[in-house]
Amino acid sequence: MQPVLVVGSVALDSIETPFGSVSRVVGGAATYFAIAAAHFTNVRVVAVVGDDFDDERMKIFQNRRIDLAGLQRVSGETFRWKGRYKDNLDDRETIYTHLNVFEAFRPAIPPTYCASPFVFLGNIHPTLQLEVLGQVESPQFSVADTMNYWIEGTPDELRLVLSRVDGLVINDAEARQLSGESNLVKAARIIQAMGPKLLIIKRGEHGVLMTRPNGFFAVPGLPLESVCDPTGAGDTFGGGFLGYLAGCSDVNDEALARAVIAGSTMASFSVEAFGLERLLSVTRDEIMQRFSEFKRLTHFEEL
Ligand code: AMP
Repeated sequence: MQPVLVVGSVALDSIETPFGSVSRVVGGAATYFAIAAAHFTNVRVVAVVGDDFDDERMKIFQNRRIDLAGLQRVSGETFRWKGRYKDNLDDRETIYTHLNVFEAFRPAIPPTYCASPFVFLGNIHPTLQLEVLGQVESPQFSVADTMNYWIEGTPDELRLVLSRVDGLVINDAEARQLSGESNLVKAARIIQAMGPKLLIIKRGEHGVLMTRPNGFFAVPGLPLESVCDPTGAGDTFGGGFLGYLAGCSDVNDEALARAVIAGSTMASFSVEAFGLERLLSVTRDEIMQRFSEFKRLTHFEEL
C-alpha cells in the first residue's frame, strides 16, 4: 500500500439544499478527498487553515490514516464557501467564496512527503499545482482536478499541468469546454493528446466515463433513495479512486475499473448526508456491501 499526497482546500462550508442547511462545517476539496482516500491508504495533506480552525474541527482528521505535517496553520480566517442547491440538486449557485488564508497560500511539501508515489492535485490555481509537482520526486501516478474558472482564466498554465500529469478528473461540461468539442468521445481524444492518458469524466448522478489506454469504461451512479447534499462528491470520488489505486500493485485496466467503482462507492455515501457527516461514519463493511451493489447493478451475461 502506497501513500497518496493531496493538495487542495480545507474549508468552512455553508450549504443550503432543499433538505436543510448547515453553517461553517468542515469541508474543502482536500478534506473530502483525504477522508475518502484514508479508507484505503495513508494520506498526506498539503493545505492551509486559519486560526479559526479550532481543535474541535481538527478532530475529524484524527484516528484516520491522515498525515497533517503539510497542513499549514496561519493567522487569519480559513477559506469559506457557501453554496445553494436548486430542487433537482444538480444546479448549484455559489453564494460566496472567501479565499482568506488561501489567497497567500504557497504549498510547501514537508521532506517526509517528497517521495509520494501517488499525487492528487485538487482544484486550485494551476501554478500552485505545478509548484507541488515540482517538489515531489517523480511520482508514479499523478491526477489533477480542474474547473471552468481555470480553463478560461489560466489556459497556458493549465496546459503545462496537463502535459505533466497521468490523469485528469473533470466534469462533462468542462471536458467540452477544454477540448472545444461537443462529442465526449472526440473531446476525450483531444484532451488525451494534451497529456493525461487517463481521463475521468464525472457526470453527476449519471455516473462516470473513464478513458483508459485500451478504451472506455463507464459506470452509472448508484440509484439512491436519499440524496441530501452533493457537495464534495467529486473530491470524494477522487479520494476513493486514487486511494484504492495506491493499494494496487500495478495500475492496469482492471485496477482502474475497480478504482472507479471505489470512487463511486465513496461518493454515493458522501451525498447521503450534509457535508462530511456520512463519510465520517461509514464502515468497511458498508463500503464492501456497496461495492457489491455496483457489481449487481452493472453485471450481465453475454448474449
Ligand atoms: P465540489 O462539490 O466537488 O465542487 O466541492 C465542493 C468543495 O470544494 C467545498 O467543500 C468547497 O469548500 C470547496 N471549494 C469551492 N470552491 C472552491 C475553490 N474556488 N477553490 C477551492 N475549493 C473550493
